[in-house]
Amino acid sequence: MSEDATTKKTPGLGGISLNFVPAAGDGSAPVSQSVAAATGESVDARVVIVGSGPAGLTAAIYAARANLAPVVIGGLAGGGQLMITSDVENYPGFPDGIQGPELMGLFRKQAERFGARVVDADVERVDLSRRPFKLWAAGVEYRAQTVIVATGAEAIWLGIESETRLRGRGVSACATCDGFFFRDKEVAVVGGGDSAFEEALFLTRFASKVHLIHRRDQFRCSKILKARAMAHPKVEIHLSRTVEEVLGTEHVEALRLARTDGPGEERLSVQGLFIAIGHRPNSAVFRDWLVTDEKGYLRTDGPTTATDIDGVFVAGDVDDHRYRQAVTAAGEGCRAAIDVERWLEAQESDARAREAASTAAEPRRAAEATTA
Ligand SMILES: Cc1cc2nc3c(=O)[nH]c(=O)nc-3n(C[C@H](O)[C@H](O)[C@H](O)COP(=O)(O)OP(=O)(O)OC[C@H]3O[C@@H](n4cnc5c(N)ncnc54)[C@H](O)[C@@H]3O)c2cc1C
Repeated sequence: MSEDATTKKTPGLGGISLNFVPAAGDGSAPVSQSVAAATGESVDARVVIVGSGPAGLTAAIYAARANLAPVVIGGLAGGGQLMITSDVENYPGFPDGIQGPELMGLFRKQAERFGARVVDADVERVDLSRRPFKLWAAGVEYRAQTVIVATGAEAIWLGIESETRLRGRGVSACATCDGFFFRDKEVAVVGGGDSAFEEALFLTRFASKVHLIHRRDQFRCSKILKARAMAHPKVEIHLSRTVEEVLGTEHVEALRLARTDGPGEERLSVQGLFIAIGHRPNSAVFRDWLVTDEKGYLRTDGPTTATDIDGVFVAGDVDDHRYRQAVTAAGEGCRAAIDVERWLEAQESDARAREAASTAAEPRRAAEATTA
């Protein structure tokens, strides 16, 4: 994992300088680079995009190229989840793969090239009761005709030091993203719900063996997934165990497991560890305004990216707990920007029509007044 990749010149990419500072690998507060320090300042925008992951920055590219001069309040952990991963091999256009932070630096560079303004701050509070919508970040009030919420989600980790140290060196939270790197290797999945089983079954395509570790003595997943996993010759189940430590210096070599049903520890040799204990959507700031599901994911209203608040749109992992990929998030960012553009166009042409109607009515009223 290239912890400081974004502060270096990127070889092979024209030596560009990347703007994001990666989120701290230990999950603690990320480094802020150029937080807008002004207080009392206010900014008006036709569209404010919240979040600078693949969804937010793709929305920014499209909105900027549609001449909407978007403002991106990108978050202190700018660049999103790909900032904590190394090789991304499934993003189209990079046949040799690309480092996550490099990819996000390129997204940002492309958005800024077309005039998007990216602010490295977190939105702390919003008022979506009327337009212009108001958002507050780092002492600045943003007034927006439209808002795209692209605040993403976070994988929930075990929270042990060795897991953080070996993240990207065998520890992952995404089998779809990283399973390919574990061909003919032994891996473990931690979790007891449907996603843990889905991850485990997906990993059987590559790994020589998949150990499924769960702290309880039974699973809370669907029967069908459980039956499939139990029947799979590559899957071995370890109930009533927790991962106490991930062992290895450069890469994952083994796990130290503790039993939850009595004393005793075990060592399990694996080269990969997939954490599948859930994701947390970054929707807290919007929860008082927008509809969420029971897990806090924002809900869209119908087939577009629109929410039930007219003029507010949603894109990426903050509403998508099914696909959770950079390319799907980017696709949603594109959809949201197009939705915004059409929404503004409709509003503006309605306003023009109203103005034309009232201008046409003026001489008639004047003529009627004269006749009377
Ligand atoms: C370890 C790991 C490896 C992965 N590998 C791959 C891979 O190889 N290929 C792949 O396609 N996908 C991969 N993914 C998944 C991919 O990273 C996500 O699907 C994608 O980043 C989602 O994009 P997003 O823009 O919706 O959200 P995110 O990337 O989560 O970005 C959200 C942004 O919103 C910001 N934000 C949050 N709250 C606020 C706020 N209040 N104010 C302002 N900003 C805010 C955050 O700081 C962040 O910048 C991986 C994920 C992880 C965790």
